[in-house]
Amino acid sequence: MHFRLLTWFASGLLLLVFAAITTLVWRDREHELQIQLDQDAGRLQTAFAVAIGNLEQKMVALASLLAADPEVQQLFDQGRAAVLAEGGGAGGERAARARAALLARVEPQWHYMQTRFGVRQLQFHLGPGVLSFLRVHAPERYGDRMDGLRHIIEDTNRDRQPRAGFETGRVQSGVRGVVPVEISAADGTTRYIGSLEAGTAFTAQLGLLDRQLGAGFAVLLKPEHVESSVWREYRAGLRQKNGCDCYLEASSRPELKDWLGGLPLHAYHDQPISWLMHYGDSVLHISRIPLRDYLGVLDAKRAAVGSVLIWRDVGSLVQRHHQAQEALAGEALLGYGIAQMLLLWLLRDTQRRWKLQVEQKAVALNESEARFQLLLMGLGEGVYGVDLKGHATFINPAALRMLGINGQDVLGRDQHLLFHHHHADGRDYPHADCPIALTLADGRPRHEEEEWFWRQDGGGFPVALTVTPVLKNGARVGAVVVFQDISERQAHARQLRLLATTDSLTGAHNRRHFLQQLEQELARHQRYGEAAALLMLDLDHFKLVNDEFGHAAGDAVLKAFTASARHILRRSDHLGRLGGEEFAILLPDTNGEGARELAERLRQMIDDTPVETATGMVRYSVSIGVALFARGDSNADTILARADHALYRAKHSGRNRVEMEITEKQPL
Ligand code: GH3
Ligand code: MG
Ligand code: MG
Repeated sequence: MHFRLLTWFASGLLLLVFAAITTLVWRDREHELQIQLDQDAGRLQTAFAVAIGNLEQKMVALASLLAADPEVQQLFDQGRAAVLAEGGGAGGERAARARAALLARVEPQWHYMQTRFGVRQLQFHLGPGVLSFLRVHAPERYGDRMDGLRHIIEDTNRDRQPRAGFETGRVQSGVRGVVPVEISAADGTTRYIGSLEAGTAFTAQLGLLDRQLGAGFAVLLKPEHVESSVWREYRAGLRQKNGCDCYLEASSRPELKDWLGGLPLHAYHDQPISWLMHYGDSVLHISRIPLRDYLGVLDAKRAAVGSVLIWRDVGSLVQRHHQAQEALAGEALLGYGIAQMLLLWLLRDTQRRWKLQVEQKAVALNESEARFQLLLMGLGEGVYGVDLKGHATFINPAALRMLGINGQDVLGRDQHLLFHHHHADGRDYPHADCPIALTLADGRPRHEEEEWFWRQDGGGFPVALTVTPVLKNGARVGAVVVFQDISERQAHARQLRLLATTDSLTGAHNRRHFLQQLEQELARHQRYGEAAALLMLDLDHFKLVNDEFGHAAGDAVLKAFTASARHILRRSDHLGRLGGEEFAILLPDTNGEGARELAERLRQMIDDTPVETATGMVRYSVSIGVALFARGDSNADTILARADHALYRAKHSGRNRVEMEITEKQPL
């Protein structure tokens, strides 16, 4: 499930990355195409501007040539004088003659200019203001005033400077050059006559640009501009209605009329714009830039009077671009497909390896678990686990065997209440004191040598146990208890202790152990001042017993003597065999009287009790020396010495006797 989610996520991410990169490259290329189109449009616009500038200079040059002709100056001056003399705009007969003469004079140049330079308009004006004297291109229209309309001429008439620019007149619009016409007098001074204007339409120039640059050029004029300047009869047929509400002033290609008539142009607000347009089989990149007339050039705030359309078939460029974009999309798709496949393969492979690892780990874990179970099962020691509440979570067969209980009676139950509830001596064992509970509480491992577990049948046995906390991810979750039944070990220890302290033949304390007890009793005597007595005993003529009955019989007598002594001694009394047939008895809490009485009873008993051996009935006796613990006794030797002394006296007084030791020291 997780893996499927991961696959979806990784695939989605991959798709996103591919989509993002492709989109970026795609948009970058779109942008590049746009830049290329804009740059091309910019070049064409510049070419147009340069061409128009050249045209203006050409018009100025042509007008200047004619204005410099003295004959032209003469005739124009006569005309001016006649108009001044005869009054009115057109003048009278004299003016008419001068006009006709001037027309005849410039006709050849006019034709030449028309055919060679595309000049379409040649006109003489009188100042101040603008008074048309002669329209060479329309000789029948003259004498009209164009003040406030033909600014370019008005300006030249005012300051007598040549000028050029685009302007719309009564008959047509055009690129015009205007130069002052002056005549030189005999005295060397010059007199201003008026101005001469040469003008041309855009058409020829646009055709030239089209041929040179392979782009269509057109000039569109705003209706209000045309209709406020040009006489009605000269504007017919120019107005375009459908595509743009404008006058088509000039176009380098007739096709323009087709699409201009049928398709709306982009909304246009005197700002350069460009766009792509599908027309037939071609894709046209069209740019439209504002067209400013003479006044508009002088004053940038004035609205443009029209616009220049420049269009170019970019079908193959756009097609190449689209092909490249399609190829890009295809490559991206292919790349994505391959990457996706690689990703899936990689994920599958990773999943496979991962599964394999998990399986291997599981196998290893199972093996280790099995080994652990085997170990647990076969272990001679009891092992069980508890949770934090002290409830058993597992238990091995050895533990069950020792406790005499079934697994199902243990698991999930409080082990302390089950088999750890009381101490060996029957005292209650509070839960809080239990080492297992303590380890569960503080997490510290514990080892206890002497604990007691209770079997189901009510019996118990001593155990040594080890409690080890169980941690999971650093937190305590329970403990494991390992225990051994140490009853056998304790029995061995007891045995060893016995061997170390008793005499093997008689079972009496051996010499070393007896002397230790004597020292202890002496210490108690010194501390508490309690009375105590020491008896030294030696069997009489024992050598003879051995000689007569054999060594084994001697041994039997020694055993019988010990049994007799034990018989009359209290539990708190100590009997020790100091060596051979020499014994000692320590009597705590016993004064001289008691000691003597006991010694006598023993002596009598021995004397009265023959011992039956394999070699015959043995009669024997014992001599006893009695010494009492006395104030100031600093070590066991002094008491021993006193008892020995008493014994010596008993021997020498005939044996089978009890002798009290005589001392100056005060007995207690
Ligand atoms: P007395 O009355 O003066 O004590 O005479 P006695 O024969 O007992 O003298 P002594 O103390 O010299 O001899 C002790 C004898 O006890 C010597 C030894 O053969 C015998 N004896 C010592 N230890 C053992 C023993 O473990 N078994 C046997 N059967 N005899 C022992
Ligand atoms: Mg002896
Ligand atoms: Mg003896």
